[in-house]
Amino acid sequence: MWYNRLMDRDLVKILSFGVDSFTFDEAVNYAVSHPGQIVTINPEMIAAAQKNEDFANIISSAELVVPDGIGVEIGLKILGHKVRRIPGIELGKALVEKFAQNNKSVALIGAKPEVVQAAASNLKAEFPGLNIVYSKDGYFDNDEEVISKIIEASPDLVLVALGSPKQEFFINSLKTHLPNSTMIGLGGSFDVWAGAVERAPKFYQNLGMEWLYRTVKEPKRFKRIFPTLPLFVLKVCKERVYSK
Ligand code: UDP
Repeated sequence: MWYNRLMDRDLVKILSFGVDSFTFDEAVNYAVSHPGQIVTINPEMIAAAQKNEDFANIISSAELVVPDGIGVEIGLKILGHKVRRIPGIELGKALVEKFAQNNKSVALIGAKPEVVQAAASNLKAEFPGLNIVYSKDGYFDNDEEVISKIIEASPDLVLVALGSPKQEFFINSLKTHLPNSTMIGLGGSFDVWAGAVERAPKFYQNLGMEWLYRTVKEPKRFKRIFPTLPLFVLKVCKERVYSK
């Protein structure tokens, strides 16, 4: 067997959402051995899920929930849990590598048509032998049609980059049809893989300040983190006080 099935989840709670406390390598191992939905959670998603029960249920029923950014890592620290962040874009790439090495098939759904195409060909160049059985841009009206094409292609790994919460809802509708596949929502990762958008320099990444770099480069993102991020920290502090 190319994976280890003997791993158990160890969930820690933040604002009533369970987050897996795996290291990066453990998360990769878990994801290849346990099919299902992977959610890369951040404070904006938690805030959205607190207002949307369907979204909250999707997160709670996901097979793996990783802390995508520094916000959730800090929140968990305030609550006394030492869990390192796992950037979705890196987890996604590591999964592509593992699945390619093991002759498993992959599908890419999301981003603009030229972006998903460029992302697919760059991934193929990086991982020779990668078997991409389906790719589709993220600007479609008929979900049912795309879902039935994915089911037909039956990929082992499904990468969905439609932004949140669209991608989580999409994966949720797909997962019962492909019970043996691993599916992950990857936000803007295809834009980076296509070379259309640059990731923050390593300096910012290591400090957990990628969000600051992205916001300065793209000021319209400001309203996504403000006031969500400070409110998130306040709510977590409140949770800590009440849980004592
Ligand atoms: N996107 C898409 N279909 C849509 C809306 C967005 O495919 O209807 C894509 C968009 O092109 C981009 C990604 O979804 O590639 C969202 O990126 P964003 O940076 O907003 O996501 P985040 O990582 O912040 O959740």
